[in-house]
Amino acid sequence: MYCPFCSATDTKVIDSRLVSDGHQIRRRRECVACQERFTTFESAELVMPRIIKRDGSREPFNEDKMRSGLVRALEKRPVSVEQVELSINKVKSQMRATGEREISSELLGNIIMGQLKDLDKVAYVRFASVYRSFEDVKEFGEEIARLGSDK
Ligand SMILES: [Zn+2]
Repeated sequence: MYCPFCSATDTKVIDSRLVSDGHQIRRRRECVACQERFTTFESAELVMPRIIKRDGSREPFNEDKMRSGLVRALEKRPVSVEQVELSINKVKSQMRATGEREISSELLGNIIMGQLKDLDKVAYVRFASVYRSFEDVKEFGEEIARLGSDK
């Protein structure tokens, strides 16, 4: 890839290591032209099942949407970014393990709740209360409410 600082085409890898429990490779690169250093992450691109929404329509699985929902549920909780990324990887593994090309938003919600239960009990309750519409939704924002369900 081009150097993000000077757009030179030649960069060299000075360090690489596994992160996210081996699901990603982190590389430190140095530009041959300007000597600036930067980091890249590499991970396998795997086909995820599509999501069947409650109204029967289909949409692609959206990892960013899931991540922002989790981050919101984990607000002010003692959970590291690395732990969140690990949970996301586990959710994706479980989705692929179904062997289905499409899964319901309900199943996705249950998989996410299973991970949150292990990760942080408070976040689990926050997420579950929104996802299952137990009680006060507005405190946790619309984002989680939308996560994996309709819209
Ligand atoms: Zn450069």
